[in-house]
Amino acid sequence: MTDTAHETNCLFCKIVNHSIKSDIVYEDDTYCVFKDINPQAPLHWLIIPKEHIDSLNELDSIEIAGGLLKLAAKLAKEQGYEKEGYRTVINCQAGAGQTVFHIHLHLLAGRSFHWPPG
Ligand code: 5GP
Ligand code: ZN
Repeated sequence: MTDTAHETNCLFCKIVNHSIKSDIVYEDDTYCVFKDINPQAPLHWLIIPKEHIDSLNELDSIEIAGGLLKLAAKLAKEQGYEKEGYRTVINCQAGAGQTVFHIHLHLLAGRSFHWPPG
């Protein structure tokens, strides 16, 4: 699938392109961060690369992989969760709960989290 096709068909590419409205809390040249439409915690943000990548299976760039995590930590600390803690999740494939096939890292904070996750 070409990038143009992704922009046409992918929900998160449409959010990146502002053709679908979302609550964007941060963006730079590489990443876009917006509030999850169905939050599972008081803070539930989705951190995505602007480049379309289907899932963690297709993530070849160590730079983007590291950047997602570094940005999650930066935003969580900025929001005051450095000590209290926060959770980062990447669901890969439907069996693990992935429903949108543009890689995204969930940043969740503001409540206690259990282990093992459901
Ligand atoms: P997944 O289940 O793929 O790991 O996560 C997809 C997430 O995207 C879900 O938490 C879901 O609530 C969120 N989501 C689905 N559609 C939209 C949308 O149109 N806007 C926003 N902001 N979030 C969405
Ligand atoms: Zn996409």
